[in-house]
This record gives sequence, C-alpha cells and structure tokens, in this order.
Amino acid sequence: MNHEEWKEKIFLIGDTELDAAERREIENHLKSCGDCRESLARWEPFPDVNPALIRLSRRYKLAIISNIDRHLLGRSLQRLAVRFDALITAEDVRAYKPNPEIFRQALTRLACPAQEVIHVAFGPEYDLQPAHALEFRIVFLNRQKLPPPEVPLEAEIADLEELSSLWKE
Ligand SMILES: [Zn+2]
Repeated sequence: MNHEEWKEKIFLIGDTELDAAERREIENHLKSCGDCRESLARWEPFPDVNPALIRLSRRYKLAIISNIDRHLLGRSLQRLAVRFDALITAEDVRAYKPNPEIFRQALTRLACPAQEVIHVAFGPEYDLQPAHALEFRIVFLNRQKLPPPEVPLEAEIADLEELSSLWKE
C-alpha cells in the first residue's frame, strides 16, 4: 500500500467493527509512520461532544472503553474538554472488544454494578451486544440513522447532546 492509501485507511481505526487483523495492521503502520500519527492526532471530535461531556461530567462518572492503544487514545483525549474517571484500553486489559474481559475491567475500575452503567456506542457487535450481555444499560448512538441493533435499548440518540438531556439534571 502506498502512503496516500495508508492516510485514507488510518481513519478506519475509529471504526469499532474493524476486525482484529486489520486493526493490528493499521496500528503497526501507525507505530512506524509519524506522518500518519500526526494526521490522526489532528482529528476533531464532533461539535456536540465537548459541550455534552462537560454537562454529563457534573453528575456522572465518565469512562472510555477503547480498542485503540493507550498512546493513540492519549492523543484523542487532548481534544476532549473533561477528565475521565476511568480509561480502559485493550492494550492494558490485553483483550479487545467484544471480549467481555474489557467490559468487566471497566466495572472493576468504576466500582459500581453494571445496572448503574450506561454504555453509549454505535457498534452492535463490538460494543452493544457484549455490554448488554454483562447487563450494562445501552444507549445506541446512531449518527448515521442505521437500523436499531437487536439489544434492548435504554434510548437511541443522534448525538451526545441528546444524551445529556435524557435524564433530569
Ligand atoms: Zn503513514
């Protein structure tokens, strides 16, 4: 693959449905290519993300469960306006979503029962189903107006601003 093709492909790393082999391939390229690391670090969050996180952080603990490694996650966090109470990465747990171990680790770190956790995600196979299997409450983030997943939903939202309005403050 030439360099321009790689630059297109690294954007897939945000896709939670990416298969493990492909993810490893992209991560390996990122390790060796400073240029691609820089373009990844320049990604901006959707405009609804920071205002919603700030509102949510006043009332709730916030955590991220991520299949990308610690270093890359750190770069993305520089664009977010809040501190998270827990960051759980596949690199630390040595298990990638949808492995339940990474979700169990999140519960341990948050020190609360699954029924008190709202898992917000868009990927059915890698996020919504395994989180539901551990009895997390599920909010389906559906920016692309996809059909709903086959798991019981607490809510479906089109952006994070809707999330911060779901419960009375
Ligand atoms: Zn590259």
